[in-house]
Formats: sequence, structure tokens, C-alpha cells
Amino acid sequence: MRPILHPSLVNGRSGDPALYIETLFERRAILFDLGDVTALSPRKIQRLEHVFVSHAHMDHFIGFDRLLRLLVGREKKINLYGPGGFIDHVHHKLLAYHWNLVDRYVCDLIFVVTEIESSLATRTVRFRLKSAFAEEVINSGRIVDGVVHSEPTFRVSAAILEHRTPCLGFAMEEAAHVNIWKNRLAQMGLPVGPWLRELKRAVTENMPDHYPIRISARPMTSDMGEVQLGALRAVLTVTPGQKIAYVTDAADTPANRKAIIALIQDADLLFIEAAFAEADAAIAAERAHLTTAAAGRIAREASVRRVEPFHFSPRYTGEDERMLNEVMAAFAGRSSEGAGL
Ligand SMILES: [Zn+2]
Ligand SMILES: [Zn+2]
Repeated sequence: MRPILHPSLVNGRSGDPALYIETLFERRAILFDLGDVTALSPRKIQRLEHVFVSHAHMDHFIGFDRLLRLLVGREKKINLYGPGGFIDHVHHKLLAYHWNLVDRYVCDLIFVVTEIESSLATRTVRFRLKSAFAEEVINSGRIVDGVVHSEPTFRVSAAILEHRTPCLGFAMEEAAHVNIWKNRLAQMGLPVGPWLRELKRAVTENMPDHYPIRISARPMTSDMGEVQLGALRAVLTVTPGQKIAYVTDAADTPANRKAIIALIQDADLLFIEAAFAEADAAIAAERAHLTTAAAGRIAREASVRRVEPFHFSPRYTGEDERMLNEVMAAFAGRSSEGAGL
């Protein structure tokens, strides 16, 4: 099965955090964190629809200006998500510029910003170019099971972590793939048609076996009656979707470990900060960041399939291999004692 989500660290393991995830559906893209994004082409930035920001420390949010610069003048809506206080951070960025000429723009640029408070309460506002980015309140609510965005093809969950300020960790889960075997359809004497879309939806939404599926070769015509979902399972196979998790800027505390592991459990791919080497655990604790060893152990405990460490501190420039080895040793359950010597 061809994976549908294609993630890449915009600035490698040492630059500003930004994880660009290209999707194969409708050429849309998602971004986790908005550090410096000059390495992203304008076309890639224009594909963004959802941008999830862990917290508004400069290295995670300075890329907002480039986003704004490239999108003004285009008809575009971007959904932004961040921790408590994030709406104000976005608004202040927008207010840094003078918008007296906005009535001359034909296209509107809309930011829909949702902030997630520590109690999982959410607040959503809108900023529109055509109203000079004045704040318009949309709604407030509460997130359920940590899910901050959900649509038929994927969903994104968040966990609130402690970094001496609330910081969000994210997990993106793709819906299961449903493959229909046309030869098996033919064997059962069933036609190909738009009803297969309804069949796929019923499967991904875990409908029970007695759920009725109406069969028709074409919309509105040649109705061939109903068949129960259970009887159709033989014509399809279900492959679970990919899970990609993103965790950065978290203190190594028992509460954070618990929240991170619950969020990233069984992820196919985990991007996790490993800001400091194991030998510098005291500095990591001081700055509320994870070490290489902590990142590797957390990934191991959560039974993650592959780990990609990033956000290496500049003090380790030229030592990527050492940092990577420390993470991988902990991930493999080996003692990395002396690895840095
Ligand atoms: Zn930070
Ligand atoms: Zn950071």
C-alpha cells in the first residue's frame, strides 16, 4: 500500500522546527510548527490548509511572516491551532503591519485560529484580510479525546505538555484504506458503481454487519436492492492508515512522559525533539527539554515503529551522528552509558 502521508523536516534535525506533511489527496499539505520556512517553495506554502503550532517560542513561530507574505493577495483560508494565548500571538503578528489598502484586494485571506486551553477548552476566532484582520469570534468548545481536527481522510489529536509554558504535541492519523477487489465483486454478480463509495464509508466508520448497503450501478438508476455490510466484507480488504506523531519542547517529567506516550502510542513514525545529549541532562532539565536518551526511551515505551529525532541544540553542531546514536541506543533498549565519551 502506497503511503498517503509524506512528512519531511523542513530544516533537518538541527534547524528551526517545522514538519511539512504532504498528502496524496487533493495536493493538500499540513505543517507541524512554523519555524523558519524559507526552505519551503511558495507552491508548497500555498498548499497548506492546517498549521499546528506547538507553542509561540520564536523558533517555532517566526515562519508566520513568510506564510502571510506569500498568501496575501490570494483567495485562501488557513486553519491555525496552538496552545492558550495563541490567538493573541497571531493577532499581534498581523497587527505589526499596516492594512489601510485592503479594500483594493480582490481576494480574501482568512485565518481561522483555534487555541486549546489547559482544560481542553477551545476558542476559535477568524481574522480576514478584507476587514484588516480585526478579530471575529466564531465559537468556543471543548475537544473530545484530544481530537483537534477531523475529516474523512485523517484526524489530528493534541496533548498539552509542560515546557514551563503549555506546549502542544500532535499525532496525525490517516483513516484506514479500504480496497475493493473487482474480481470478487464480479464473482458475486455485483456491479461497479457509486455505491462502492458508500460501502467504503460504512467500513471506515465501523458500521455493524447488519448495516444495509444499497447497490446500484449508476446514481439514481438500476437499483439492485440492499445487501447487508457483513455479506460484502469478502470483496474488500482494510489496511490501517499511517500514524505520524510530532513532539517537541517538553520537560522530562512523569506527567509529560505519560501524556506523550498516550498520544504517540504505536505510531508508525515519531518526530521527537532530542535537544540535549544524555550527558547534558542537567541543562535539559533546566531548559525544560528532552535529552536524546529520554526521547529514545519514550519512543521505545510507546512501541513506536520508527523514530526521527530533531531540534538538536546548536551546541552539538557537527555532532548529528553522536546525537542520533544516543537516541537509537535508548530506542533499542541498549544502555548508552559512555556513548558520548
Ligand atoms: Zn520552546
Ligand atoms: Zn524550541
